[in-house]
Amino acid sequence: MEMTSMQRFEAALNFETPDYVPVSLFGGIFEVHFVPGMDVIKYGTSGANMARAHIAFYEHVGGDNIYCLSDMGLIVQGWGVRMKLPVEPDIHMALGKFPVKEPGDWEKLEVLDPRVDGRMRLYLDACAICSEKYGDRVPIGVSMPSPLTTTTHVCSMEDTLMHMITDPDALKKGLKVITDTIADFINACVDNGAYFAGYLTTRASKEITTVEQYREFGAPYDEEIFRRTPAMVHVPHICGVEPMFEIIDDYRKKFKNVKAISWWDRGAKPNLAEAKATYGKKLALMAGIDHTNTLVSGTPDDVAAEIKNACETAKEGSGFVLAPGCEVSPKTPWPNMRAAINAARRYGKY
Ligand SMILES: [Zn+2]
Repeated sequence: MEMTSMQRFEAALNFETPDYVPVSLFGGIFEVHFVPGMDVIKYGTSGANMARAHIAFYEHVGGDNIYCLSDMGLIVQGWGVRMKLPVEPDIHMALGKFPVKEPGDWEKLEVLDPRVDGRMRLYLDACAICSEKYGDRVPIGVSMPSPLTTTTHVCSMEDTLMHMITDPDALKKGLKVITDTIADFINACVDNGAYFAGYLTTRASKEITTVEQYREFGAPYDEEIFRRTPAMVHVPHICGVEPMFEIIDDYRKKFKNVKAISWWDRGAKPNLAEAKATYGKKLALMAGIDHTNTLVSGTPDDVAAEIKNACETAKEGSGFVLAPGCEVSPKTPWPNMRAAINAARRYGKY
């Protein structure tokens, strides 16, 4: 019998055998166009609109989850980050002025309430609407920045990296407040029907921080999040070119709710075959589709060939979800998305 999307997704994450390799398309802004009259601003300022876009995409295209994907201001607006409206259609709202400039500014941050601060309410509303519609048939995900990633949304990347060296204690005070906020937010998402978090550990990539820096400023706060959000399934996501698989695999060993890693296997090291051989017997892999090349500029046949290759590489033994390396481009041709789903069902059959 055919599994539901939830059964398929859960089986893959738990190394049981699903009927097909599940597919997770991270449509983001691409999905906005499935609702007539919708645009990025409407999508990014109303949970009901966000839900409408994701439901429309799921109904028209398919795939095995619903994934709420906001711009990076969702949380940090609560700390006074100003947003810049997009200068062209089809891009997210961008972060404007940062409230944290000096090391002492980290101590001014206060724990936020996900129900009222920033635009966190969007996810709570979108999750509630989607879970009301689909119950436990479709896994509902939220894109959720980690504490260290969030520091670079309230302060510039350059200043954050500088404060690691000049004022680590001040930065850690900020990280603590951010961790408290995100843990509460994640639990509120779970209460509203979310099943998994695309947990953005995007700074855990060696071209951005060193392993030592990540172990000091990233990992302790990630671990605090995993410990405090036991009902959320976490899929750490790193879209840099040298993702720290060893740290994510450590999380998997320590926390039952860390199940998988999502990364850009077609452009980063390790690639899919290397990751399958080294980590893929216990850490589920979410990858296989190149969102920067094949999906946006290839033909439907190219997309199908890439998915065939990915399934041949990583399907065996389960623990595999077909996914792009990051949010798909809104310029992706619609037939390529359709081809991705069809190829996943064709080549992903167990
Ligand atoms: Zn990404």
